[in-house]
Amino acid sequence: MKKHNFSAGPCILPQDVFQEASQAILDFNDSGLSILEISHRSKDFVDVMDEARQLALELLGLEGKGYKALFLQGGASTQFLMTAYNLLQSKAGYINTGTWSDKAIKEAKLFGEIVEVASSKEANFNYIPKGYSIPEGLDYLHLTSNNTIFGTQIKDFPEVDCPLICDMSSDIFSREIDFGQFDLIYAGAQKNMGPAGTTLVVIREDILGKVTRQIPSMLNYETHISKGSMFNTPAVYAVYVSMLTMRWLKNLGGVKAIEEINDRKATLLYSEIELNPLFKGFAAKEDRSTMNATFSLTDGDLKDAFDTMWKEAGINGLNGHRSVGGYRASMYNALSMDSIGVLVDVMSELERKA
Ligand code: PMP
Repeated sequence: MKKHNFSAGPCILPQDVFQEASQAILDFNDSGLSILEISHRSKDFVDVMDEARQLALELLGLEGKGYKALFLQGGASTQFLMTAYNLLQSKAGYINTGTWSDKAIKEAKLFGEIVEVASSKEANFNYIPKGYSIPEGLDYLHLTSNNTIFGTQIKDFPEVDCPLICDMSSDIFSREIDFGQFDLIYAGAQKNMGPAGTTLVVIREDILGKVTRQIPSMLNYETHISKGSMFNTPAVYAVYVSMLTMRWLKNLGGVKAIEEINDRKATLLYSEIELNPLFKGFAAKEDRSTMNATFSLTDGDLKDAFDTMWKEAGINGLNGHRSVGGYRASMYNALSMDSIGVLVDVMSELERKA
């Protein structure tokens, strides 16, 4: 039986994508070859890379606006240092909203001065800081749009007069935002976009070339832009499956259509967390993520009963991250409303029984 997969990432992808992706392992495009054995320079794969790069820009509404899309390796974690390597000349600002921002700050400190413009660390990152003032003269401001571990999400983005960089690893393609307000967006594929192994970087070309340091070729955005994201062997299969997932999203109606579905899913689950006295949410209500809902039991003695019930209902991946505890239900694009319904039924069943 197919599980209801609430895993935080790698995570559920559309079932149709799994079908098509498995077929391509056996025979890709009726070529008599597996996608795993073709050259990354073959026309078949170059077409995949071109379509993936084009779809990423199209879904974000950034086509023809001076942006380039790249599919790189090394995960979002490599982007923590690559952004600073390429863009930090003297001083950059960071909004610290959780573990991943913290790690981005740590890497950037190797390249220049970092101003922590705002942080919610004192409250174990259960809210998004607001009303902060941004110092002048920053090389860029870095944000994390969705905090996968803590279940918070930025709803209003700050207006800045410097380049704006955003780690969108866990909510890319999930909601409509004016993506043109960002100069660089990066996201590890393994949530809404595809399997682990590739990282999307969308970058406005005109922010590059401003630092004086030498940058090694593999860590230089300009290298990858000039080679069409094919400077070295890309993660062929991860890019292919990401391309299929973006096609799926486009056919569904794009980011606008999935946002409506995501909002309905999140509303259903958060209503249960609010109304059921056995549960309480972790994140501040106005900052709650539509992708990762963090919550716990009000009575720890019910843990064994609840854990048995959700596992028996075919639910996977509900345990919270160790730095928050409790539970985390990740509701990425490909998770169906039915799966949320199953979880909510288990939660209300627990209330009936308790
Ligand atoms: N940023 C965010 C918001 C994440 O959720 C993650 C991973 N879950 C990362 C960065 C790190 O990504 P990677 O493992 O691809 O390096």
